[in-house]
Amino acid sequence: MGLISDALSRVQPSATVGITQLARQMAQAGKDVIALSAGEPDFDTPEHVRKAAIAAIERGETRYTNVEGIAELKDAVAAKFRRDNGLDVSAEDCFVSAGGKQIIFNALMATLNPGDEVVVPVPYWVSYPEIVRLAGAEPVFAQASQETGFKLTPQALDAAISPRTKWLILNTPSNPSGAAYTRDELAGLAAVLMRHPHVYVLTDDIYEVLVYDARSFATIAEVEPKLMARTVTMNGVSKSHAMTGWRIGYCTGPKDILKAMLKLQSQSTTNPPSISQWAAVEALNGPQGFLLEWRETFQARRDMVVARLRECVGLECLVPEGAFYAFPSCAALLGKTSAGGRLLASDEDLVMALLEENGVALVHGSAFGLGGHFRVSYAASERTLEQAMDRIEAFCAGVR
Ligand code: PLP
Repeated sequence: MGLISDALSRVQPSATVGITQLARQMAQAGKDVIALSAGEPDFDTPEHVRKAAIAAIERGETRYTNVEGIAELKDAVAAKFRRDNGLDVSAEDCFVSAGGKQIIFNALMATLNPGDEVVVPVPYWVSYPEIVRLAGAEPVFAQASQETGFKLTPQALDAAISPRTKWLILNTPSNPSGAAYTRDELAGLAAVLMRHPHVYVLTDDIYEVLVYDARSFATIAEVEPKLMARTVTMNGVSKSHAMTGWRIGYCTGPKDILKAMLKLQSQSTTNPPSISQWAAVEALNGPQGFLLEWRETFQARRDMVVARLRECVGLECLVPEGAFYAFPSCAALLGKTSAGGRLLASDEDLVMALLEENGVALVHGSAFGLGGHFRVSYAASERTLEQAMDRIEAFCAGVR
């Protein structure tokens, strides 16, 4: 009898965390490494949010709270969903967890049984299939590619749905591709879902504020309100307000699912951190103007990074519509040899060679289900990005 549970044995560790840790170890050993492998804004949490947290500590808001979040935060979440997303919800339809990831974890663990299927569009955020497997269910991968702008088409969705499908997981804007669905594209998917009333939708909108070029963000329950009764709309302050370490994510969804999530969370982390909840109240209710400035900064970085990647021998890069990732194809370099003599048989070999020979940490596309690509996070300063692009360019030029 093994020590580790069968459930956990089905799960892969996070590749993004693994590469970032390797880059950190190399840097600690004195190597010159630029890590563009992690997905977090390089900005500080805004001052008014930090101050709200300090005030909460001073007031003694340091005890257990409601499992599903304090009333003030659920009010703020409901107001955010009404204001930004046109979702007609009140505080009792909202739920708060320790990060967006715990919302996803709760929703899937609370609903999945062995034999259930979950449609996961490819390329996907690394955690979706692993959480599905941990719950004993099966991820069913629906292929999207560079040709469809890395977006799930209605046809691909329809083909992936079976009588056993419980959920579709959507993520817009997407990690790792940066694809952001338009209202029309979501309407196309919603039309398919209307023909399959047994399928629930989990939409991960954590990069909502980061959509570029005058595009506007849309979420599926807003586009097709009839789906509201079977949609969990997840969001959080981690990426929007540079609050990754505070661990606050939230959602709105059907009452029976929220009730099951409450039961699960009450037996795991209990409440989200009390102080972080007060900080999130300020993040959601306070001034939002700086988000526009941050978005402009990210858009300028995106433009620079994409232009530089397109100049590299052997790379092809679509212009990402949102989030802070570029997802170029490196297929033309595979099968060749790096300047340091490493065979680049796969995208993973290429990413490791680039790290070891030129000191840039990226994540291979196969970690997100789509080989022949890699992910560049441009949540770093312009100077750092310029240096990293010089190194990537030199690496590509050296491939034979
Ligand atoms: N969803 C996506 C698509 C992400 O990229 C991330 C973080 O990388 C998360 C969810 C997790 O968010 P949180 O840090 O709030 O748990």
